[in-house]
Amino acid sequence: MDCIFCKIIAGEIPSKKVYEDEHVLAFEDISPRAPVHILLIPKEHIVSAAEINGENSAYVAKIFEVIPKIAEQMGVKESGFRVVTNCGASAGQSVMHLHFHLLGGRSFSWPPG
Ligand code: AMP
Ligand code: ZN
Repeated sequence: MDCIFCKIIAGEIPSKKVYEDEHVLAFEDISPRAPVHILLIPKEHIVSAAEINGENSAYVAKIFEVIPKIAEQMGVKESGFRVVTNCGASAGQSVMHLHFHLLGGRSFSWPPG
């Protein structure tokens, strides 16, 4: 399958890993939008948030269990951070493998543009 994130999981494309377990991989975004910008992905190819269902939602739960650990590891748990998933091209999704952006180290405006 021609998926960049599946290739990162398989070790075929290098990444700066910050966390890994049986179900979840987290690594630094190659084009950071904030001082802390980590991507968390399931180790199964799920296309986007639009494809989450009863069969695969455990991956999402696992990712959200990992988020506080990474936020602490990266020093943004107290200062605050944002978790974002873009779903579909018009929402800004460029890689069609479900991922959550963990952004921190600066302030963010709301609502988003
Ligand atoms: P999105 O635009 O929400 O689909 O997010 C995809 C993210 O993946 C972007 O922020 C890219 O900078 C990031 N990205 C693309 N290729 C790589 C890569 N090889 N390693 C790390 N991050 C990547
Ligand atoms: Zn994939």
